Amino acid sequence: MMATPAHNKTLLSRLPVVRGRYIEHVDLSGSTWFRVGGPADVLFRPADARDLATFLTECPRDIPRTVLGLGSNLLIRDGGVRGVVIRLDGAFNEIEVSGTTVTAGAGALDVNLARVCRDAGLVGFEFMRGIPGTVGGGLRINAGAYGSAFGDILDWAEAVDGTGTMHRVGLDELEMSYRHCGAPQDWIFTSSQFHGQHGDQWEISARMQDVRLARKEGQPINTRTGGSTFKNPGNDIANGDSSELRAWELIDRAGCRGLALGGAQVSQLHCNFLINNGAATAADLEALGEEVRRRVHAHSGVMLEWEIYRIGEHDPENDLPELVLAKEAP
Ligand SMILES: Cc1cc2nc3c(=O)[nH]c(=O)nc-3n(C[C@H](O)[C@H](O)[C@H](O)COP(=O)(O)OP(=O)(O)OC[C@H]3O[C@@H](n4cnc5c(N)ncnc54)[C@H](O)[C@@H]3O)c2cc1C
Repeated sequence: MMATPAHNKTLLSRLPVVRGRYIEHVDLSGSTWFRVGGPADVLFRPADARDLATFLTECPRDIPRTVLGLGSNLLIRDGGVRGVVIRLDGAFNEIEVSGTTVTAGAGALDVNLARVCRDAGLVGFEFMRGIPGTVGGGLRINAGAYGSAFGDILDWAEAVDGTGTMHRVGLDELEMSYRHCGAPQDWIFTSSQFHGQHGDQWEISARMQDVRLARKEGQPINTRTGGSTFKNPGNDIANGDSSELRAWELIDRAGCRGLALGGAQVSQLHCNFLINNGAATAADLEALGEEVRRRVHAHSGVMLEWEIYRIGEHDPENDLPELVLAKEAP
């Protein structure tokens, strides 16, 4: 159901008094890398972790809450997100270095964390240069690249759960593995501490430059995309999937490179990336992703698992697209 002003008036009047800000009817399409998606009923920007905890303690349980990072791993459906969408910025963006440890708020950008650590001569954060999200989003999925991931350098993380209780947990309690974090789904990360090692600033800088260039050459980073669409099945041995092939290879072998549906397309440059050619709806992107999964399964027997989070409601006025697929001429 789409939000109506009356619906939102009732919703706002039920929300607790906070020090942060509530904003109604916020278009979320500008908040994701795909540039698609419907509105949030209410967007909440907490003043700090205590304010977030107060909100979560006092917010009626039947009101859904969803936290957003930078929307770089997110497909928001065209009907938008009901309830309260939480965005962490301001006080949550802080980064502080002390010796070889670094504390970072959940709203801090990975790229900023990498830069601060470079300037402090700390090795181990270079991979973050290529991940266009926030620390909170990275913790949620144990983001990683080039053989390193958040879990390799994390000491502890702080989070607030759905009842407003604050937690600080060590790495071992988070059960991090390939693109997985075992923290309960209702936890909202607020802060974390990482460790690095002292190293040469120029070498760190050169490695970050290599990451930047590798991204530019191998990924459609200047398009509307959500990064890797599917997890690499070979890494998910725990779930019994032992394919040696990476997701992009399976997609390529199934003939999906360049496959298009409405304004959505499988990238020609990196076929584990879906792109919005400018006119895509979230429904186009999701249906194309499902079609890729179907074709890969038919071709290789592997059912790919979405890496991109898909949230929100379908727009009832914009039914799922008819499956008119096109393959771009080579
Ligand atoms: C061009 C491109 C390249 C990419 N390359 C990589 C890569 O190399 N490696 C990689 O791992 N990823 C990559 N990604 C995906 C993405 O950048 C990462 O997964 C990133 O960590 C997502 O962070 P975010 O802040 O954008 O989270 P969002 O996309 O906003 O959210 C993702 C999920 O995290 C949850 N979340 C966000 N913040 C919090 C919080 N504070 N507490 C709890 N949950 C939270 C959201 O609810 C959602 O479920 C790439 C994406 C793009 C567009």
